[in-house]
Amino acid sequence: MSRRFWRKIGAVALALSAGCVHTPRSNLQPAGADSGAEAARTRSLLQSVQSVVSGGRNYGRMKAVLKRTEELGLGDAVTQQRIGWFTRQRNLIVEIPGTADEIVYIVAHYDKVDVNPFTLASNTLNGALDELVSLTYGSHGALDNATGVAVALELAATLLSDPNRRPTYRILLTGGEEAGLQGSRVHVAKLSAAEKKRIALVINIDCVGAAFKPNCVTAHITPDAFVQKALSTANRLGMELGVGWLPFGVSSDFAPFRKNSFARELGRGLMFNGLGGLLPKRSWFTSSHTGTVVNFSACDLASPSQLLSTAVLIPFGRIHGPRDRSNRINPRRLYEAYAIIRELLREKGTQGTEGHAWIEPHGPLGYRLPKRHAAQSDSSGMLRGLQSGRTAPPIFLAGPVD
Ligand SMILES: [Zn+2]
Repeated sequence: MSRRFWRKIGAVALALSAGCVHTPRSNLQPAGADSGAEAARTRSLLQSVQSVVSGGRNYGRMKAVLKRTEELGLGDAVTQQRIGWFTRQRNLIVEIPGTADEIVYIVAHYDKVDVNPFTLASNTLNGALDELVSLTYGSHGALDNATGVAVALELAATLLSDPNRRPTYRILLTGGEEAGLQGSRVHVAKLSAAEKKRIALVINIDCVGAAFKPNCVTAHITPDAFVQKALSTANRLGMELGVGWLPFGVSSDFAPFRKNSFARELGRGLMFNGLGGLLPKRSWFTSSHTGTVVNFSACDLASPSQLLSTAVLIPFGRIHGPRDRSNRINPRRLYEAYAIIRELLREKGTQGTEGHAWIEPHGPLGYRLPKRHAAQSDSSGMLRGLQSGRTAPPIFLAGPVD
């Protein structure tokens, strides 16, 4: 996730994240936990993570993702999209056509980054020095975000093999996310108005399967009913899922899908790239748009040490530095991210175009999430009824860090 703006919001986020707590929701083993299918799926997920990590620098990671699509039988479905004038990285798009008109996006970025002064300089040039600057990176970009790519690819392979799928699934693997959401911003800007109308849902996956914290669905940007749906699905599967919250200024590739316009586009450029945001770029040529987005990330990524790391430009945090390595991935949680999203899509896919009330802001149960700060004091009320009789856990107020 892109993180330059942290320095400005560090104090606020630090105060918020200091209050973050989590109670694991369940220690139940999911049905079929030891099944061969699950083990094979987990192996494939870990192989994808390792492949992306082994790609080295960001252009190499893109090539590694392409190779992995071939291995997973997705090669014929892949197209590439140029991101911009400042980078060799391209968006990779796996298109899996369905019978319904609607499009469901699954989004994950493959690029990685370290927080350091060189990255700051590169980002001021919209990431133009990334290939050079990445020589200084100690991060393997395993958690952030080979895990998201792995889950997205695995979902693509599953969806391709489902003859009953209804929506068109578009798996968007972006580059340049760490340089200011460059890939997703261009992608959204290049969509036609007719195509934007067809988008039913955008699922963004950024940093899942962490060893240090469970997966979270991000509240506030995700419609309330979908948060509830995700929690109840996880509960039914006997899997862990928390609720996270994004501090102001922390973002990921869901942002341009959620709200976009020329003014927002310009604002994002200034926020992530400073004066570099004033350099003309392809993503400027966009129409206004709003959409339904869902984000999955590890809970509590915006820890105090992570925020401090960003503030002082020294990469000692859990991500964006040498601590982000493959051995910090929890295979079980990685599989759970895949399984929960797969189950959500399965339910959506079988309901057809008319039956998607659960992705609307006012869902079947009709409750609203408390607003930002109210959520902190009223977390038990928010989650009551979602826990199958258990005492509701405190809500997370941490979120993805970039
Ligand atoms: Zn990320």
